Amino acid sequence: MQEYVSEAIVLKKQPLGDCDIRYSFFTRRFGKMIAKAKSARKITSKLAGHLEPGNLVRVRFIEKTGLQITDALKEKKIEIALEHLSFLSDILPEGEVEPALWALCAAGHCAPSEALRVLGWDPEHAACATCDSIRVYSFHTNSQEFFCERCSMKGKGNGIVLIENIVTH
Ligand SMILES: [Zn+2]
Repeated sequence: MQEYVSEAIVLKKQPLGDCDIRYSFFTRRFGKMIAKAKSARKITSKLAGHLEPGNLVRVRFIEKTGLQITDALKEKKIEIALEHLSFLSDILPEGEVEPALWALCAAGHCAPSEALRVLGWDPEHAACATCDSIRVYSFHTNSQEFFCERCSMKGKGNGIVLIENIVTH
């Protein structure tokens, strides 16, 4: 049975069925990983307190009809806004190691504009996908495109994330 152990930042948690919880992690050794905690009621007492979004944990997974969390220990709480954690969960590809981004996040720096820059989508050199304006205002996680403020308002639907510290060229 394949087993994985890594430091990880808890990005997101979602209920799965009646009693399981699905977690999204940014792990130092394996990149983003999605894993579930079986039987939340049982896990509530033991692990759930460690697995709050923003916690940096040492986590152990096993591969067993998908990844399952078998152990987690909180090392510290990282001061990153919940929506930034959720943004990371949306843009990170599964299973790709991102050491530079890991270092930033572990130090508590993970605003969307910084994360995008480190991942190779630099807002400073981006242009609106619709009108070519270089004053980019938002990033659409589904299409991985930037938009200016005016085009952002035209409603690309879900997945639009505003970029703070808007860059002016
Ligand atoms: Zn535009």
